[in-house]
Amino acid sequence: MVPNLKISFLGSGTSSGVPMIACPCAVCHSADKKDKRLRSSILVESATTRIVVDTTPDFRYQMLRANVNRLDAVLFTHPHKDHIAGLDDIRAFNFFTGNPMPVFANEMTQEVIIREFPYAFTDFRYPGVPEIQLNTIAMDPFMIGDIRVMPVQVWHMKMPVLGFRFGDFTYITDANRIDETEKEKIRGSRFLVLNALRIKKHISHFNLEEAVDMAMGLGVPEAYFTHISHQLGKHAEVQAELPPGIHLAFDGLEILVDG
Ligand SMILES: [Zn+2]
Ligand SMILES: [Zn+2]
Repeated sequence: MVPNLKISFLGSGTSSGVPMIACPCAVCHSADKKDKRLRSSILVESATTRIVVDTTPDFRYQMLRANVNRLDAVLFTHPHKDHIAGLDDIRAFNFFTGNPMPVFANEMTQEVIIREFPYAFTDFRYPGVPEIQLNTIAMDPFMIGDIRVMPVQVWHMKMPVLGFRFGDFTYITDANRIDETEKEKIRGSRFLVLNALRIKKHISHFNLEEAVDMAMGLGVPEAYFTHISHQLGKHAEVQAELPPGIHLAFDGLEILVDG
């Protein structure tokens, strides 16, 4: 049976977040809640299983804000700091379950995690450090509880980044190129999340125009853009110009999908 999944956007901002520290711009000073963007992450929930994609520097607050009192696993897209920095805070879940947190990542990301959080991987660990159980993502689909996860590999300039398809929903952050073979895995999704950093071109992220073209080229009925910079503009103004079916994501947005 296909479970119904609830997707919650825990954060929709680029690496600096919106507002950005010390920035005087109009977007960073907007009163609109939709212009307040923590770093990009989603929560994927079935009736029995809860997964977070990436642990941002805002992870602790994201868990508190979304009332997440149980977490079954963490999936990582890639090892950039804005996607892994909050990993230490999974220890709160360790305290309550008494079990290590299952973490799923490719080998490249695991190497960085071990380097950045070395105290969590030594033989003799200080009491209270995060307990992490590493699992390697190959490119085959796998199950976490009753949620089926299909990895999709995309390109972040020269870095391979993992996107994930859950049923009719595909989540891609931090990409500027997608190979034809991987596009095939995305096609047929009803919902697609893509990164759309800003209006101007960028070396490792889709800009708004490229994200719109990619979403339309893939023929998905509903696209949501994330990993948004203050340079994209105000949510309401940018959203008003977008074609039907194309939306800017915002923190707190929830969508229901078939898993
Ligand atoms: Zn990022
Ligand atoms: Zn990145």
